[in-house]
Amino acid sequence: MTASTRVDLALLGIRGTPPVNRTGGAGPTDDGHLLVDGLHAAIPRNPDSPFVFDGDRVLYDGMDVGLDIGVIGRPRFYDRSTDDGVGYEQIAKLHGRNVLATTVLQTCIRYTEDQRCRFCSIEESLRTGSTVAVKKPEHLAEVARAAVDLDGVTNMVMTTGTSAGKDRGARHLARCVRAVKAAVPELPIQVQCEPPADLATLTELRDAGADAIGIHVESLDDEVRRRWMPGKSTVPMTEYWAAWREAVRVFGRNQVSTYLLVGLGEDPDEMIAGAKELADAGVYPFIVPFRPHQGTLAVEVDRASAPDPAVVEKVTREVAVHLQLLTMSGGDQRAGCAACGACSILQSVGG
Ligand code: SF4
Repeated sequence: MTASTRVDLALLGIRGTPPVNRTGGAGPTDDGHLLVDGLHAAIPRNPDSPFVFDGDRVLYDGMDVGLDIGVIGRPRFYDRSTDDGVGYEQIAKLHGRNVLATTVLQTCIRYTEDQRCRFCSIEESLRTGSTVAVKKPEHLAEVARAAVDLDGVTNMVMTTGTSAGKDRGARHLARCVRAVKAAVPELPIQVQCEPPADLATLTELRDAGADAIGIHVESLDDEVRRRWMPGKSTVPMTEYWAAWREAVRVFGRNQVSTYLLVGLGEDPDEMIAGAKELADAGVYPFIVPFRPHQGTLAVEVDRASAPDPAVVEKVTREVAVHLQLLTMSGGDQRAGCAACGACSILQSVGG
């Protein structure tokens, strides 16, 4: 498979619904998860795509284009529920073949009409009842044990909506990590949160057992940040850099990452330069094409569309070359999005 086919899949999506999929929630969503050439691929579901998933293969205009597709079966832990009646699938989801993902706090102080990130639909899955607002640490521990035992999950991602406290949600994350590690000590966990106001919170997360951390800025351009993330952009870049540097000190080089979204209007060359600066500082720049999906202001108000494939490919390739120079790869992260790689094309081009 060429990189441009992988870019096309990421941008045009597929018709059809692979058994492992997700709708609504934090981060990229409304997709189906497959293995493409042995690598994780989270592909948007798009009824207008020329690519069709027929249950086994991905066809283009009805023709088998020879993509090496691995279908991931519906996980067995989805059939279970807690003693108090919460379905395991409402507590955590399978991403890719072996990643257990959960949003420990499914609400966000920034989720108002004028403050929320325009690409985010974190509270939509709550409205449809497909998840619960606050995940209990003991429930996460129970689900993680089952997902490892029944479905061979090898790492876990815990993200969170931003809370009103100074820790911005990190303390609840730490409680959840501690509970999961007590039940499944062998399971590496990535946590994801905004920069906490008190940087000592990063050490608390590490001490709780977190193996890697994502502190996601999405864009390094302040004008783009203000436009797309009015609430989150009130956290200045200086706070992000302080948190990234402290996180690298606490978690180690290449165990810290950040999402950079291609397609929000940031100058591609500036994004590439910023991504290189991050990588030089030990932070893996997880380059992800912006994905317009239902439930977001980007789609419902702005009518935003997916980015230019040529720009996605250029940014991804140039960042991958720099990562190779630094011998820094997503696969070397102990857990989380960079390790999974499904929402990016970086791993397909050697990053
Ligand atoms: S990259 Fe992150 S959000 Fe995307 S499928 Fe993998 S774990 Fe989930």
